[in-house]
Amino acid sequence: MTRKTHTCGQLRAAHAGQTVTLMGWVNRRRNHGNLIFFDLRDRWGLTQVTVRPDQVAAHDAASELRPEYVVAVTGAVQRRPQGMTNPDMPTGEVEVVAQAVEVLNPAQTPPIYVHVDGGEDEALRLRWRYLDLRRERMQRNLILRHRINKFIRDYLDARDFVEIETPILLKSTPEGARDFVVPSRVHPGQFYALPQSPQQLKQMLMIAGYERYYQIARCFRDEAVRATRQLEFTQLDIEMSFVEQEDVLQLAEGLFTELVETVAPRKRLLARPFPRLTYAEALDRYGSDKPDLRFDLPLVDVSDVVAESGFRVFAGTVAGGGQVKGLRASGCAAYSRKQLGELENLAKSLGAKGLAWIALREGGTKSPIAKFLGDDVLHDLILRLEAEPGDLLLLVADEPAVVAQVLGRLRLEIGQRLGLRDPDVLAFAWVLDFPLLEWDDKEGRWSAVHHPFTSAKPEDEYLLETDPGAVRANAYDVVCNGWEIGGGSIRIHRREDQERMFRVLGLAEDQVQAEFGHLIEAFQYGAPPHGGIAPGMDRLVALLADEDDIREVIAFPKTTAASDLLFGAPSPITDEQLRELHLKLDV
Ligand code: ASP
Repeated sequence: MTRKTHTCGQLRAAHAGQTVTLMGWVNRRRNHGNLIFFDLRDRWGLTQVTVRPDQVAAHDAASELRPEYVVAVTGAVQRRPQGMTNPDMPTGEVEVVAQAVEVLNPAQTPPIYVHVDGGEDEALRLRWRYLDLRRERMQRNLILRHRINKFIRDYLDARDFVEIETPILLKSTPEGARDFVVPSRVHPGQFYALPQSPQQLKQMLMIAGYERYYQIARCFRDEAVRATRQLEFTQLDIEMSFVEQEDVLQLAEGLFTELVETVAPRKRLLARPFPRLTYAEALDRYGSDKPDLRFDLPLVDVSDVVAESGFRVFAGTVAGGGQVKGLRASGCAAYSRKQLGELENLAKSLGAKGLAWIALREGGTKSPIAKFLGDDVLHDLILRLEAEPGDLLLLVADEPAVVAQVLGRLRLEIGQRLGLRDPDVLAFAWVLDFPLLEWDDKEGRWSAVHHPFTSAKPEDEYLLETDPGAVRANAYDVVCNGWEIGGGSIRIHRREDQERMFRVLGLAEDQVQAEFGHLIEAFQYGAPPHGGIAPGMDRLVALLADEDDIREVIAFPKTTAASDLLFGAPSPITDEQLRELHLKLDV
């Protein structure tokens, strides 16, 4: 076989006169009288090939070509005639005039066209993923992903981090999700669990003295698939010894900053250093622990203003221990009945009983609740929300969690409608001081908000037994544009502290031994203080690639129904395999 001399993205005017061989896929073919033109594609780009009728063999071969045929073309690079250059194509100054066209492999009519950017059903794209992956957008995304991985490896290597692989077949690691399990053939009735993250493994590596570890690690959680969640996903798992929270934040912040500057220079980091807010502040001000900070638009507590008002819904909510909060949608006073209806429906779909509004229109203030509130309260509300003529105020009354949920989401909606969510701006921020524990109604016990290996703030530790919900954790999240990018914590590293934590979580002694014996044992043999973080790579890449769905940056993702449509997974296994695994099916 002849050899490929250049890529399809490489040739420029300076190559004119050279004889080259290109290999790739036929993107599109056009005939102009006797002349045949086609674009040859590989992952580096497209090059136009011209086949003249006097090259009889090449012309015959070229007249058979169809999209996605794999071909080798040998010919002379020629500058395109005046007026025929294509400035949109990096190779647009030249064409290759074919002397030989060899079909390396013909192709059937593709079920999805590669030269157009999709638009078809996602199921079709996933069923024909290898064709979808030939598309420019997917190649751009996967190559960006490679660059990001490479940058991270270099950055961490330069700071003395060691990349260490950890097992996939291990033991259940509780991180709050359901485990994937693998039956053991050798140990009848026993199972491995796939790691939800390498959490305990990286802690073991700290105990083993590796001090600065990272891994671009696959994690497995048997959860519902969503735009930002897959059954298996990738984390940049980092752990450091002899550090405090500040050290971890500094390292990660430096990494993100340089990463963006290097691989996505057209993006603008909104603020450096990254703003920091506590979990309580984030929830109070933005109704979310992963606020989109590309815009401010805070939620404002007006409970005291409306507590004594004649509007029973508001007064009653406050009297009952609830909250009334508002949001100022600037310039939205003229919203139509339909637009207001959309906002109300959104609020109700998130659990609100209703959505109150006040529009500061030119002809005067309009609001269905104005007459109940009375002029004074209305006036105070407008002052509290710092509203100006032309603004629309949106108010929700409920228990704090519902108010946060509803107004937090409305805040994003208004931000979107006002064009405040600029995709080229990255608003990274740290959310600090998460609560350590939350009450799990279903289980009837406290559970860890981050994971059970997270330490409490020393000043709150005394509350562990008496008021667990009030204890703050040495835990932090990095967020960006409304997404949680990653979280981490300073860990517990003493046996007695870990045992105390397990007691607070309601774990019996024998359960602790069975599930975590290895860890508390290891803590007795010189465990250094340690902590780390684990940014989600899929979300990070999606953010830098301008994609809303992480499936666009994963080569072979699962559908929302948790299947792989290309391979047809999951699938049954044979009776023989079942027997070997000592399994009987009950389906
Ligand atoms: N293992 C944790 C997680 O997956 C991250 C960490 O604490 O480093 O959320």
